[in-house]
Amino acid sequence: MKAQPRASHYVNGRYVEDERGDPLPVIYPATGETIAKLHAATDNVIELAIEAARAAQPAWARLKPVERGRILRRAADILRARNDALARLETLDTGKAIQETLVADPASAADALEFFGGAVAAFNGDYVDFGGSFAYTRREPLGVCVGIGAWNYPIQGAGWKSAPALAMGNAMVFKPSENTPLSALALAEIYTEAGLPDGLFNVVQGYGAVGAALASHPVVAKVSLTGSVPTGKKVLALAGSHMKHATMELGGKSPLIVFDDADVENAVGGAMLGNFYSTGQVCSNGTRVFVQDRIYDRFLDRLTSRTKAIRIGDPLDPETQMGPLINKAQHDKVSGYIAIGKQEGATLHCGGGIPRLQGFENGYFIEPTIFTGVEDGMRIAREEIFGPVMTVLRFSAEDEVIERANDSEFGLSAGVFTRDLPRAHRVVAELQAGTCWINHYNLAPVEIPFGGAKQSGIGRENSLVALGHYSQLKSVYVETGDVASPY
Ligand code: NDP
Repeated sequence: MKAQPRASHYVNGRYVEDERGDPLPVIYPATGETIAKLHAATDNVIELAIEAARAAQPAWARLKPVERGRILRRAADILRARNDALARLETLDTGKAIQETLVADPASAADALEFFGGAVAAFNGDYVDFGGSFAYTRREPLGVCVGIGAWNYPIQGAGWKSAPALAMGNAMVFKPSENTPLSALALAEIYTEAGLPDGLFNVVQGYGAVGAALASHPVVAKVSLTGSVPTGKKVLALAGSHMKHATMELGGKSPLIVFDDADVENAVGGAMLGNFYSTGQVCSNGTRVFVQDRIYDRFLDRLTSRTKAIRIGDPLDPETQMGPLINKAQHDKVSGYIAIGKQEGATLHCGGGIPRLQGFENGYFIEPTIFTGVEDGMRIAREEIFGPVMTVLRFSAEDEVIERANDSEFGLSAGVFTRDLPRAHRVVAELQAGTCWINHYNLAPVEIPFGGAKQSGIGRENSLVALGHYSQLKSVYVETGDVASPY
């Protein structure tokens, strides 16, 4: 299996290689085989990319928003037309089941390009009347923006960051995760094909050091990172020391609350979506599933049988529902947390093992896992595992569960399953989270803001709010009378 791109980086509208950069092998997580060999960006490549972006941005910003938007919408059409090939590439890069990537990954990037390409022309400043004299505000781009992506949704991340940035008239230098460098290059090619002028979307590969070099580069006006909380703290500090704008989309340990009047099948479906999709590698996952006493046994019964029926295996088989984890380090981390859960005294209710799959013996597979008998203070209930490990906790009363749900350093997301709608709204109003779902889980349509409270991040992606985060306001006061001066 090979997925070798023409070169490691995409700068100023073309592929660029610099073999002096650190080797960056791309591993197919299902087999452990090397499918591409790339190089991390050298300082030279980083400078070329930043300079290309800096040079291209002013002319792009002077285009009418509808003209910029038209190019983004054309790129969205190409993404959709190539959905199957891009989904396959994403599956090779991430190991995620093709049944997911076919519907979720390039499609979500295309949605972002289409939405921001259309919305930007209607995203304007304000007019303020002073009875004769007046003021208005202009929405101006920031300049060169840096996007740094995580490995769980590579093309989606590249689309979610680049679309609002470009729509607003900025240029972007994007660094994918070292684990998943391929699909951002495909997106860069598509942008060029759609007519995006050279230099506006550049992809440079690399490890954390390349991200840090970009985040601290003096030309860069904004950094948008998707990653873990520790990385977010480092990148935000770098951005802060240079007074750059920053958006941080970080990790979580989100609560999903199932009240005893909930539809059991829907609640189980939501809990499984919120723990097992993308092999559990989703930032917003509802990994603390609080279930009310009266429904607990029924919920656990259906959850167990549906979880045991999950088909793990070849990610390229459309019947497969769960692929491997991204790499050995993540496999070790998730296995380590399963061991910790057992040591802490939680009950390993289901899963927890490493499946032996013929032909995939070197893949990073792990069974979907459910812990019961979990106490709030246990590490498996407090720390982000980023794998298919669900903790199920019991609760009795509404006030109690709200307090327990909020007892976390994170605040990315939360979910509530109940048929009692007044209660649903009352509870989500109390939950400390950037996104809440009532009677569903983990949907992130581009039309609504997405981001975290507390340690889970700063700023929002998606929706018109993201255009705000990729722009700055200029206030213009216009005097129509004489200047009243005391001098
Ligand atoms: P990491 O924090 O390890 O890495 C994120 C990105 O930052 C990678 O591209 C990484 O490069 C880069 N990076 C690492 N160190 C630095 C540094 N010092 N300066 C600049 N850049 C750096 O996250 P993962 O890739 O492991 O992704 C998983 C995490 O992302 C989870 O915590 C998850 O919750 C979170 N996430 C959040 C989302 C959200 O929207 N809130 C969505 C998806 C994931 P490299 O790959 O080379 O290490």
